[in-house]
Amino acid sequence: MNTPHVNVPPPIFENNGNQFYGELRREVDEFFKAKGKQKTGDSRLYTKTAIIVITVPALYVAALFLGLPVWASVLIFAVIGIFHALAGFNIMHDACHGSFSSSGRVNRWFGNIMSLLGSHAFIWKTKHNVIHHTFTNVDGVDDDIAKIPALRHCPSQPWKPAHRFQHIYMMGLYAISSIFWMYAADFEKYFKRRVYTTDLPPIPLSEHIIFWVTKIMYTAVYVGLPVYMLGWGGGMLAFVSLHVTLGIILSCVFQMAHVVEITHFVEAAQDVRTRIPQEWAVHQMATTANFAPTSRFWNWVTGGLNFQVEHHLFPQISHVHYPDVRKIVQRVAAKYNVPYLEYPTFREAFNSHMRLMRKLGSGADLQLAH
Ligand SMILES: [Zn+2]
Repeated sequence: MNTPHVNVPPPIFENNGNQFYGELRREVDEFFKAKGKQKTGDSRLYTKTAIIVITVPALYVAALFLGLPVWASVLIFAVIGIFHALAGFNIMHDACHGSFSSSGRVNRWFGNIMSLLGSHAFIWKTKHNVIHHTFTNVDGVDDDIAKIPALRHCPSQPWKPAHRFQHIYMMGLYAISSIFWMYAADFEKYFKRRVYTTDLPPIPLSEHIIFWVTKIMYTAVYVGLPVYMLGWGGGMLAFVSLHVTLGIILSCVFQMAHVVEITHFVEAAQDVRTRIPQEWAVHQMATTANFAPTSRFWNWVTGGLNFQVEHHLFPQISHVHYPDVRKIVQRVAAKYNVPYLEYPTFREAFNSHMRLMRKLGSGADLQLAH
């Protein structure tokens, strides 16, 4: 689905001494020292983890073993999809970044929640921690915006006539995105040993075992047993309804951080190294936007991914601290004249994503792009 670029060397940031990030890091370090806080998760995160970890199996048992009508079981599976998204945002994401706990072992264990969700933490860490967090919105390298030809996410991607309707059909693609991810994209990455245009590091034997065992277990738990208990129609409907809510929530939250009207995109050249004329942190500020920063609801639900600016600058800090970190980032950004991108509400960010997809789909930007 997404391999038009074949030989794209990783771009280089012209760091210019990292002045902005240097001062920002010092200020953030001083804040944590002055408050006597650890940068990793605290009781707020662990309470949330307990709620999610207890709720998912409770819902699963209710859906399959209480003798409910099939439609009620299917509905409960849709709710399980919401809780899988919560587990991904709040537990797995922090753990894979090493910010869930100060213990590496605890982070590894909770990072493997990714396997319970049907994917593979080892592959995802390369896709997300290494590629997406370094080369955010760099077309040709960042796998998160590599959905061509189905979707045109930035001006440098080729336009096709069908893109005129992408703002209409994209929700349908988002709805099947997690099934595609777990049963197609993961296998493509695993067998090619590549994430888009970047090679995976060597996969240790333990990770080969985790990949295969958890794919089989996931299929048994979320396809096999539901089909056995609810019949083919009910079981498959339950599986699809789980993924519809999961796929839409994951796609919207991640796309609203980067594919909106106020963020920037860079095209990586093929065969030669692209030079990005900014320090890495300034590039992150130009390509990432927050939404609803004062909403406790969105902060709790999305695992702080409404504070994507702070997350991209400090992925090793747990999301529970981002409201405090935001004030420091805003102050230092203003001092260095670095833009701070933010939508006050979820609705404004969502509408902006829709408008940008419509504009990119119309091809109206083609004269401007190149
Ligand atoms: Zn991240």
